[in-house]
Amino acid sequence: MDRSADAAASTGGARTKGPTIAIVGGSLRAASILRLLSEVENVRVAVVACPAPTAPAVRLAEDLGVHVTPHIAEVFQLRELDLIVDMSEDENVHALLSAEKPAGVEMVGTAGSELVWDLLVAKKRGEEQEKLFVELQVAYDKIRSHERRLQSSKEALVQANSELESRLAEIFFTHEFFKALTRFTSVDEVCSLIVDGANGILGAEISCVYLFERDDWTLRLQASQGRPPDSFTPVVPVSETLLGTAFRGGLVQESAVAPQSDSIAWMSDAEDVSSQVAVALRSGEQVLGVMVVASATPRELSPAELDRLQVIANQSSLALQNALLHGELERLSVTDRLTDLFNHGYFQQRLDAEIRRANRFDHPLSLVMLDIDDFKALNDTYGHPRGDMVLKVMSSIIRENLREIDIAARYGGEEFVLLLPETDVEGARSVAERVRMRVEAEVLPIADADREVRISVSLGVATYPLHADTHAGLIDVADRALYEAKRAGKNCTKVAE
Ligand code: GH3
Ligand code: MG
Ligand code: MG
Repeated sequence: MDRSADAAASTGGARTKGPTIAIVGGSLRAASILRLLSEVENVRVAVVACPAPTAPAVRLAEDLGVHVTPHIAEVFQLRELDLIVDMSEDENVHALLSAEKPAGVEMVGTAGSELVWDLLVAKKRGEEQEKLFVELQVAYDKIRSHERRLQSSKEALVQANSELESRLAEIFFTHEFFKALTRFTSVDEVCSLIVDGANGILGAEISCVYLFERDDWTLRLQASQGRPPDSFTPVVPVSETLLGTAFRGGLVQESAVAPQSDSIAWMSDAEDVSSQVAVALRSGEQVLGVMVVASATPRELSPAELDRLQVIANQSSLALQNALLHGELERLSVTDRLTDLFNHGYFQQRLDAEIRRANRFDHPLSLVMLDIDDFKALNDTYGHPRGDMVLKVMSSIIRENLREIDIAARYGGEEFVLLLPETDVEGARSVAERVRMRVEAEVLPIADADREVRISVSLGVATYPLHADTHAGLIDVADRALYEAKRAGKNCTKVAE
């Protein structure tokens, strides 16, 4: 080809194009060479010379718009011919071409054309490889980007998986929590469990439960976690702090607590809280209490977390309601309906327990038996319902005069019994006297305006182990002391001998 380029240059350099070629022969092979050459840039096939009009190379030439001639000699008439490719496989034709080709025109015969064929095929293959390489490159890029996408989806999967795992752990915890809620029956236990649950399920740093006290419309701290118990304000009016807002509104979040905000006054150290959420614990329309979760760092619970908090609150409310009912039932079972004091059965039970305690700590324990004087007459005069009112007045006078640890019970009819732990005989006598004088002073709300009705009581005091060292013995000696008081003219206190 170099020589033909030289030839081209020597013919005046008018051509800027590559070599001009003539193909002689019409075989399939010739057609293939034509096809290959037609795809090579800068090469021009000027003519296909073949006597057979239906030969493959002729057909293709016609398709490609290449001049076709049945006359071999016509080849020599081409003006800018550089190369004749003889594909005729005909010795005569080859001889003719060799003899007649113009000077400067190269010729390749069957063997040479094979070389051209091979070169072209190799070039073609190179192009194919190039194409293949580009395709590979594209494919590789695609794979890479797939891989990157896979990697990021893998990371997303790992993330999702760990979220799922923690969600699962949370679900397990929640399940355990709900199961435990149904098992616990005391208000104390349920409330401790609620703060535990808030901690475990929501990762709450600080959590607490306040219960509603209807008597004075306050919220009282029942259970807490995350800070020492004295960090919490024990009693919060229902109109104040975030607890009050939740009491009225249900669920309320303050993800950034303003400094000095009143909403945080349920904590003694308001500086300690930056975010807080409170939710009412309800049973129907009735608010049982408020649950709070808070943290020292700003934290906003997501809608999903708020939902979870609400679910915890709902389940907790159910358990709390049960515990309250259970507590109420228990209270009722030990309470005298009319006076709201403990009943006889509970008194007997507590007497046993208090004797054991007195023994263990070597403390005295006193018992006071109290009987209303001439109650039958009062009933006869004013009727039973008013007699009942007097029994209620008696119960509140007794209550007012006792300490927290004392136990007052209605022993039966118009008889009452006071159990005074850690109280010696003198202490018990003064309690008895205080009650007696208080009753004596009370004007009963049962008579007409123009008449004052009063009652009196007689009391018998006995101390364990001074007067008796058994349960039955102690009751017996106290009873006898009471009898002595009656015998001595009523409205007085007698101590057992
Ligand atoms: P004493 O000074 O000797 O104790 O005389 P008393 O009348 O109080 O004693 P008694 O044992 O004879 O009568 C007790 C009365 O208390 C008889 C009964 O009608 C009355 N009583 C007992 N339980 C109740 C009650 O639940 N309600 C009312 N209204 N009266 C009761
Ligand atoms: Mg009586
Ligand atoms: Mg009596």
